[in-house]
Amino acid sequence: MELPHNLGTRVGILGGTFDPVHNGHLAIAEAVRQALALSSILFVPAFLPPHKPTYAISAFQHRAAMLDLAVADRPGCSVSRLEAEREGSSYSIDTLRTLRQTFSQDVRLFFIIGMDAFAEIHTWKANRELLDYASFVVIGRPDHCQQSCGQTVAANFPGYVFNEAAGCWQGNPGEGAIHPVAMPPMEVSSTAIRQAVRGGKSILGVVPEAVARYIETNGLYR
Ligand code: ATP
Repeated sequence: MELPHNLGTRVGILGGTFDPVHNGHLAIAEAVRQALALSSILFVPAFLPPHKPTYAISAFQHRAAMLDLAVADRPGCSVSRLEAEREGSSYSIDTLRTLRQTFSQDVRLFFIIGMDAFAEIHTWKANRELLDYASFVVIGRPDHCQQSCGQTVAANFPGYVFNEAAGCWQGNPGEGAIHPVAMPPMEVSSTAIRQAVRGGKSILGVVPEAVARYIETNGLYR
């Protein structure tokens, strides 16, 4: 599998459907990059998202092309098409295993997810094994990020203890940590954008301009 060059040694992985990528996704990437001093962020669009209701998801090539446009002027951000290469349902465990095997051992991986998704982690395939390959970064609302995260950690990851100095939960040696990152909620979602386009409303300001143009040119979400 081909990876972009020069991702550095602290790489954030942001998976999603990205139908389409929006400014909320880009803001998460930037917030996490700053909070954990990451060297880069790799956006990984899902080929077949296992957790999504079955609406007609846009073709992978469109979703990945919009991501390319969104990160074009963002140094340190890049896009991986590895889930398309694998085909079938896109499980995070398979993606992280592949990425772990591809990166050299001095590279640390940080798997970024929203608090909502983290709260459902008990439904994920091989969830504890995820921490063999990466640390988690859980994005939550500033008022209760650590508290909600702590409840989910306690329920699903026995043995993980909060380390005040490090600001994260830690498990056995060699296992990834779980980092809470507080971020004000952003009222933007791909669902709202698809609805706006269908309703003929403007989406400027919620997606990068090049993405808005791509949606228009390719007649997406009509
Ligand atoms: P949809 O509306 O189609 O469900 P979405 O906007 O949630 O899509 P995804 O591609 O499913 O976008 O999201 C990828 C990741 O980004 C997920 O971890 C999701 O929790 C997170 N995310 C998306 N939008 C926001 C937002 N506004 N604030 C915080 N996290 C977000």
